[in-house]
Amino acid sequence: MSSATAGTQGRIVVVGSLNADLTIYCERLPLPGETVHGNGFAVNPGGKSANQAVAASLLGGNVSLVGAVGADANGDMLLSSAAGAGVDISGVRASATEDTGVAVIAVDSSGENNIIISAGANGTLSPADVAVEAEAFDGAAVVCLCLEVSLDTVEAAARAGRDAGATVLLNLSPYAEIPQQIADLTDVLLVNAHEASLFLGSAAIPGSDADVSDWEAVRLHFAERGLQRVLVTLGAYGSVVLDSLAPSGQQLVRVAPIKVKAVDTTGAGDAFTGAVAARLAAGAALADAAAFASIAAALATTRKGTQAAYPQVTDVERLLA
Ligand code: ADP
Repeated sequence: MSSATAGTQGRIVVVGSLNADLTIYCERLPLPGETVHGNGFAVNPGGKSANQAVAASLLGGNVSLVGAVGADANGDMLLSSAAGAGVDISGVRASATEDTGVAVIAVDSSGENNIIISAGANGTLSPADVAVEAEAFDGAAVVCLCLEVSLDTVEAAARAGRDAGATVLLNLSPYAEIPQQIADLTDVLLVNAHEASLFLGSAAIPGSDADVSDWEAVRLHFAERGLQRVLVTLGAYGSVVLDSLAPSGQQLVRVAPIKVKAVDTTGAGDAFTGAVAARLAAGAALADAAAFASIAAALATTRKGTQAAYPQVTDVERLLA
């Protein structure tokens, strides 16, 4: 085992969303008011947090998922997919009033998509659920969060993570403005280039293939907002580590992309986040976690689907130099 993957695995608590992905494949996306014919339909387990939990577990993480589904077939599908990947689902509650969350996704022949999410049971996840699962946070190494549940819930989970001494990882997706107290409770922020530019407003985000030194101003902008450690993903261009607290003193690291034949990039960001969580929980340095995640996420794009496309730890280790 390489040094990047060695280490004792601490527990990861993922708090957030589970959605059934209802996907129609079509030649082109419909315009407003238009109906087009599809050429295939699939129902798959999804939701950012469920995806991140499954990715982290398949990559060797010891993962507990806290969330809510409806008492319906989509909820059963999501629970069995997560449990099948080894995730502890005892913290996923069945809502008495709401259906399981769904994402209605249209994908055209170029891979471009439109997504509408109905939060369903995810919208009922509250700070009270975080309090009920207090035991799960006890001794956790990493708490992994995204913005598909309410900001109150995100803040409560971040605070529980901070109080437990865990590393709080926030995937700022889907993008929303966050109150400063959530930023202050975040140890590592994960954003794609689009989310980074929305967060920083006027600050320019360098082009995907820019030199690493061009990211210095971005690192400073994030640090000014209280975010000292940030991973920016750049799709096929890999990622950048902006680490104002790097023990090595190396505050900017460019993680080279892995060249693959991508067939479906849906959920690549979630694979990346789950992989970072798994490696940080094993004690890896942030830049090593990003290098590992880059391979895991690239592999995830080589197969159709999200959770079903996620790699095992041995698949990643084979490619880790
Ligand atoms: P999101 O899915 O959140 O928009 P990105 O598109 O930035 O996020 O992708 C996340 C990560 O997935 C990237 O940093 C990269 O490691 C990997 N990735 C995505 N697309 C590709 C690709 N075409 N080839 C190789 N790796 C990819």
